[in-house]
Amino acid sequence: MCYAIPGKVEKIEANTVIVDYFGEKRKAFNELAQVSIGDYIYAQGGFVVSKISSSEAQNILSVWKEEFFELQEVDLRLSRLSLGGKAADKRLLEILDRASQSRELKDNELSYLLGLKDNSALELFYKTANFLRQKYHKNSCCVHGIIEISNYCRKACRYCGISSNNKELKRYRMTKDQILESAREAVEVYGFKSLVLQSGEDPGYSIEELVQIVREIKERFPALIFISFGEIGISGLEKLYQAGARGLLMRFETSNPALYQKMHPDMDFNSRIEHLRKAYALGYLILTGGLIGLPGQDKDDIINDIYLAKDLHAEMYSFGPFIPHPATPLAGHGPARVEDVIKTLALVRVIGEPNAKILVTTALETLSNQAARSSLLAGANSLMLNVTPLSYRPFYSIYPNRAHQSEDISTQIESTISLLRSLGRAPTDLETL
Ligand code: SAM
Repeated sequence: MCYAIPGKVEKIEANTVIVDYFGEKRKAFNELAQVSIGDYIYAQGGFVVSKISSSEAQNILSVWKEEFFELQEVDLRLSRLSLGGKAADKRLLEILDRASQSRELKDNELSYLLGLKDNSALELFYKTANFLRQKYHKNSCCVHGIIEISNYCRKACRYCGISSNNKELKRYRMTKDQILESAREAVEVYGFKSLVLQSGEDPGYSIEELVQIVREIKERFPALIFISFGEIGISGLEKLYQAGARGLLMRFETSNPALYQKMHPDMDFNSRIEHLRKAYALGYLILTGGLIGLPGQDKDDIINDIYLAKDLHAEMYSFGPFIPHPATPLAGHGPARVEDVIKTLALVRVIGEPNAKILVTTALETLSNQAARSSLLAGANSLMLNVTPLSYRPFYSIYPNRAHQSEDISTQIESTISLLRSLGRAPTDLETL
């Protein structure tokens, strides 16, 4: 998005470039043939996505220069950790002290953290997660755009409002031209550097059509492209990688195979996991995670979910709340508790891969308008804005009353920028050296 800083290429080693952001060095994978030392580039998710002219970059950087260091100071102040002073439980302090040093925690300690209820104990837990986020990621935060290209779905997930069970739902499928136009708007007008293309599992697009769409976006509107079309088969993954897709967003939903089977009577847990493992082997960045608050889920399931996401090499963890949809078999169940989801995000920061990002989901924002802020202060460092045409958004109703459903892109960007600025976060999402 427009909240993005170009960096200067300082070094090129085979396919890796070292990029300078006001003296900070970061690393990115480069697939663009025409990048040389001294060029200015935009990078996302560890990939160089586009080159910009030196004059344009100098203009943008002159605006950013002062703010970049001011933001870092704000972030440092907000992420300072002191486990002394407070009259907290000795056991909690001891666990958090080890967590803050990235030392191993036992399963019963993880369960204890997920079970915390007291506000001052939770505050210390979240501060520890925020400290770790700052330690490994500094003040970087990445913002993706998501285009929900179709709400047709052949699968019958019991929680999902766009599943094949929902016969009442008006279905839509964007045409190739409509998708390209949305991608153009997101990249050229609003400056997004990475796009997620998502749909239900919709056989209405052939793999060849999806390949054409990804290839054209890549050629005409340079961005890092994530696909999220469900289980499209290993050869589908291969073809879309060749077309230029570099990320896969696919949750395994739950690591508990029995619960998975209950929630997805027509699906196979192993097949989902196989897609994720093959995608990683093909070179995709993996965005994965699960639903928190599914009926029948317990704390051990959540801990196993985090370990599974780590084992699948998540580059970004995506854990969000289950929210009941009235036209699904789970309509009578209550939604996840916001606090349980934020605790999960904090625990991901404590035991997940340190360099991985953690997403704030729209579903969590739907349950609380303070959730984005609270999550970003509890270990999260990534956001996804909805860039689907406004006319289609009400029909991508995976759960009711989705946050930002009727907000245009500029409004979402404005409030995101103001939130990120207030927390001292800056739009550089590369690994620091
Ligand atoms: N078809 C793709 C797939 O299978 O991954 C992507 C589309 S699917 C609708 C995207 C995500 O929506 C799912 O991974 C699921 O976790 C989430 N979702 C579906 N129903 C939900 C609900 N009721 N509450 C919260 N999240 C939900």
